[in-house]
Parts: sequence; C-alpha cells; structure tokens
Amino acid sequence: MSLRIIFLGPPGAGKGTQARQLAATFGVPQVATGDMLRDAVARQTPLGREAKRHMDSGGLVPDDVVIGLVAERLTQPDAENSFVLDGFPRTVAQAEALRKLLAGRGLELDRVVFFEVPREELLRRLTGRRVCRQCGSTFHLVSAPPRTAGRCDHCGGDLYQREDDAEATVARRLDVYERQTAPLLDYYRGRNLLSLVQGQGPVEQVAAAIRRVVDNAVTA
Ligand SMILES: [Zn+2]
Repeated sequence: MSLRIIFLGPPGAGKGTQARQLAATFGVPQVATGDMLRDAVARQTPLGREAKRHMDSGGLVPDDVVIGLVAERLTQPDAENSFVLDGFPRTVAQAEALRKLLAGRGLELDRVVFFEVPREELLRRLTGRRVCRQCGSTFHLVSAPPRTAGRCDHCGGDLYQREDDAEATVARRLDVYERQTAPLLDYYRGRNLLSLVQGQGPVEQVAAAIRRVVDNAVTA
C-alpha cells in the first residue's frame, strides 16, 4: 500500500497532531519540514548550515534549501513511496519541485488536505498560551488552564503572555500565511487534488473527516 498526502493549514490549525496520527495509522512516515530544518541545523549538515544563515538574518529559508531537504528525505527507503508531508510545500515553486521529484519516479500525490479553521478560533488558540515567569511551565487558557487564574500550578509563579503570542503578532503571522498560501491552494485546486477539511471541533472528529478524504483518495 502507498499513501502520498500533503497537509496544509495555518499555524494553530492542529495539522501536526493530525499528521502524526494519520502517519501512525497507516504506518508511513510523517515528514515535518519544521522538525527537519531544526534537525539539520542542529546536526550542522551543509543544508542545515545554509538554512541557519537565513534564519539568523530573520529571512525565510529559500525554496532550494527546503526542497533539497525534502528531496533528501524522500529518497530514504521508508519515505520513497509513502509519506504524510506536514509544512511543505509552502510555495508554488516548492509544489512544482515536489511534482517533478515524484514524476521522476512515476509517482503522483494522492491528496492535498487543507485545514479550514475560522480566524477567530485560530486567534483564540494561538493567543491563549501563558508561561510561568519562574519555572517556564506553559499553560493554555482554553485547552490547559492553570488551576488558579494567573498562577503556575507547579510553583505558584506569575503567568505571562510572550510577545510571539500577542494578538497583533499572531494576526500578522496569519496574514502572511494567507497571502503565501492562496496561490498554492489555487495550484492544487487546478489539479483536482485539494480537499478542504473542517479543522474546528474535537480531534477525533477532525481525524474522522481526514480519514474519509484519504480513504476516498486511495481507493479512487
Ligand atoms: Zn512555575
């Protein structure tokens, strides 16, 4: 059996959790480019060193670096035929590179799943994180609230909101994501590969919706 799936969705959509779960269910690798980038940087591979230069200067990691990483990963035996891609592609150029890579082996994607989550819900999820000033424990106002508001469960320290989690910062990140992703959605829609899944609601419900999409794609 083979399965070649891409998960797309804004930050906070919960696609990492779902990708992990689907990959485990089908026994295929989850290829998460964020993790791969961090790993390549930590191991100081040539691509990792190049990626780090761009990250340090505050820029985006260029397409050819990310494509190089993914191409390397998808030639490893466990991933050459099946994968759940999470965090890649981010641009049409990356999508084209992936198409060519697969076509070179006579393969195609089975499906691209886009997680639809209303903006207010994303804001709620992404701005709800609170961190303890003393011990660094993290809480979430919605999904993992502290027992006493504003106080750490572990040490009683003050909880605060990091700059990265502030509403204005999060709103900007979501805007950037939307602008970046719109052409990518058009690209996959034009190739009849795109399925939209409601990313709001309980994790099991979202997983079931994804499972229906995947089952259809694989048996089609
Ligand atoms: Zn604490």
